[in-house]
Parts: sequence; structure tokens; C-alpha cells
Amino acid sequence: MRPIDVIAAKRDGQELPAETVREFVLAYTRDDVADYQMAAFLMAGYLNGFSHDEAVALTAAMVASGDELDLSQLSGPTVDKHSTGGVGDGTTLVVAPLAAALGMQVVKLSGRGLGHTGGTLDKLDAIPGMRTELSGEELIAQVERIGLAVCAQTADLVPADKAMYALRDVTATVDDIALIASSVMSKKLAGGAGAILLDVKTGSGAFMKDLDAARELAELCVALGEAGGRATGALITDMSQPLADAVGNASEVREAVEVLRGERPGRFADLCVALAGHMAVLAGLADSGEQGGQEAREALASGAALERFGAFVEAQGGDPRIVDDPSLLPGAPISHDVRAGRDGSLESVDAEAIGRAAASVGAGRRRKEDEIDLGVGIDFLVRVGDPVDGDRVVARVLARDEAAAETAGQAVLDALTWSDAPVDAPPLVHAVIGSRLG
Ligand code: URA
Repeated sequence: MRPIDVIAAKRDGQELPAETVREFVLAYTRDDVADYQMAAFLMAGYLNGFSHDEAVALTAAMVASGDELDLSQLSGPTVDKHSTGGVGDGTTLVVAPLAAALGMQVVKLSGRGLGHTGGTLDKLDAIPGMRTELSGEELIAQVERIGLAVCAQTADLVPADKAMYALRDVTATVDDIALIASSVMSKKLAGGAGAILLDVKTGSGAFMKDLDAARELAELCVALGEAGGRATGALITDMSQPLADAVGNASEVREAVEVLRGERPGRFADLCVALAGHMAVLAGLADSGEQGGQEAREALASGAALERFGAFVEAQGGDPRIVDDPSLLPGAPISHDVRAGRDGSLESVDAEAIGRAAASVGAGRRRKEDEIDLGVGIDFLVRVGDPVDGDRVVARVLARDEAAAETAGQAVLDALTWSDAPVDAPPLVHAVIGSRLG
């Protein structure tokens, strides 16, 4: 294989055989294909499109570029879930213990956040003492014992994706469905779980702003998971507004604990139940998402999910007292109420702008090396369709100083559009994708 021939074939719109895709990606991982050649290949694919078979081959080649987690020692069923990311999206904190309470084994390798979405590891950092670096042996032993672990990736999983993503980021080739799907699914397949549920977000705070693109991404991800031999499904869920009220690290943990305690009903809790219920179907533990969801509600009501969460915090060195006393989590000195300032019904939210406002007070990173302030953020207290009067507190900014709080508060108001007529609430789950989910 000469790299230039592969690039030329892709440039000329030819479909590449799986073996060629594999050789090209593996040669790139060995440094036998240069960055500029991979960048040219990615752009040729971006412009001409990748076929389904090419996407399958690309995914398999990326998995083969590094280590894979071997979960065969676990008694199972092993399940992973992945969200494409959004604002106030701390579902892992609730769904992982909930799934464990339903008899699944959840091995969740997570990352840190960049931009307007926070990463799960940042949220876990808000729990005093919590460790997110686990060795392979610790990970397996913990999951076998308590049913879940959420930690940073330590093994060298999917190095080809890391290098290719860095190139895509600087060559305007990120937003291609086949490249996104193969990037996401290569990491999920290398993570080793037997079942994978994707939470593909759509709306103003999501990577995929429109529903058709989200559906295309979800369908391809499911096909790639199935081609990799895993029971895979997806929910397409609403991100036209922040999911949970809390946007910020410690406050997202606080809210997750309240959901696990059964004290915080709402869209966030409902989505966690739907996700856990559909994971149960993929794991072979429920016949339908509804049945799985019903069992998930019971695990919340009985305290079984909260008990798993406490065991998880303790197992990873965190202070389990946070479960009963959330005041042990980091806080912020300023709490600034933001009022609607007008009567009307909330028509739409620029959710990404809410995420940016939270980042502006220190809850997110602009650059990789930025430190996060775990105690600050925004509590977003209104939802699309809600009628309000001018005095209604629509958000509370938690900040270090008044000036930053006021600027963020104004940014929140600027992100809201109001209507004088009643407005319908958007659906929480737009679609369920994958033949295993019915
Ligand atoms: N997230 C990923 O993991 N990969 C992409 O390509 C885009 C988003």
C-alpha cells in the first residue's frame, strides 16, 4: 500500500476495501503515514463521503490501533452508555448506579470537558477524596464487587482516534457523521462492554443541532456497534435546553444525589430512568424500555440506586457522607438570582449560551490546561413551555464575585426567547433507534 494511492482513490470517489482502510490507519499509528497524508485522506473522505462498509472498516482499524479492555472475567452482563454531550448532562452520575442496582455491570471510561460541556471526571472531582485513576485490576475487582466504576482511561485505547481527532480539529473535518460515529464507537468497542446505549443529543446545546443529523448519527453508531458484535441501541434526546437544573460540577453532583434520593422529579430524572431502562433491555434483563424503566423507578424509590452510588463513592476513595450531607461538596460565596423581568411563556433557550455562561464564572474550560472552579455554576430554573411572571427567578448564578455573577446572569437572560402565547414543552425522547429496542 502506497499512502498516495489510497488518498488518490478516496479523492476520486472510489470505495476502499476494508483491508486498505485498516492498513492505512495502522500505518498512520506506526508513523508510516504522515499527518499531512492522513489530513488529506480525511478531507477527501469528508468531501466524497464514507460508505457504510468503509465506516465499519475505519472503526475496526481504530480499535485495532491500541489496547482493548478485557471484561471477560466479569460475571456480567456488562453495559456502557455514552452521551454525545450537552449542558447540565450529568446522567452518568445517576444512570451508572441505577443500572448497577438493576443487575448490570457498568464500566464507564470518561473524560474531562472542554468548551461548553463539562466532563464526568470533572464532576467526580467535586467529591472530596474521589479518585478517577484506577488500574485495570482495580477496575475489574470494583465492578465485580459493586457493579460499577467510572474512571479515566488508563490503557492505551484507540490511539488512532486521538491522533485523527486532533487533525480533524484543525482541518475542518470534525463534523462528518461517519468520522464522528467511527470515533465514538471505536472507543466504546475498545471499552469492552457487551452492550452499549448511546444518548444522542439534539438541539441548541448539542453537537448535532438538528434531528435528522442526530438520527443519521445514531443509526450509524448503532450499526457500527452491532458490526462490532455488541448489543447496541440509541435514544435521541432533547438538548434544546439544559437537561438538569444544575450546570456546574459540584451542583451537578448535588442534583444527581437528590435524584437518587427520589427527591427531585423532572426531566433529568425521567431521562435517567429511560436510559437505565433501555440499558436493561440491551443487557437482556428487561423485555421493553417501559419495563426496564419501571424497574429503574423502583430502584430509585427503594434506595437501591442511592446505595450503589454510596458504595461507588466509597470504593473510589470519595467521602460517602456527601450522600447525606451535600454541604460537604464545594460551594460558592455568591448566589445571584436572575429574574425573568417580563411575563410570558418560555419559547426557546440557547442552551449552548447557558453552558458558556456557566464556563464564564469558572465551571468550564476554555483551554485544556485551564483549572475548573468546582463550586461555581448556574442553576437553570425554568423550562420551555413554562409560563412566568416578571418576578420569577429563572436562574441562580453561583460565582466567586458579584461582577462575574451579573455578567453571567445577563448572558442567561439573553439566551431566552419569550412568547405571549402558550408554548408546548418539547419531547424528552425524540426517537428510539435499534432493532433490539423494538
Ligand atoms: N466525540 C468524539 O468522540 N468523536 C468525534 O469525532 C466527535 C465527538
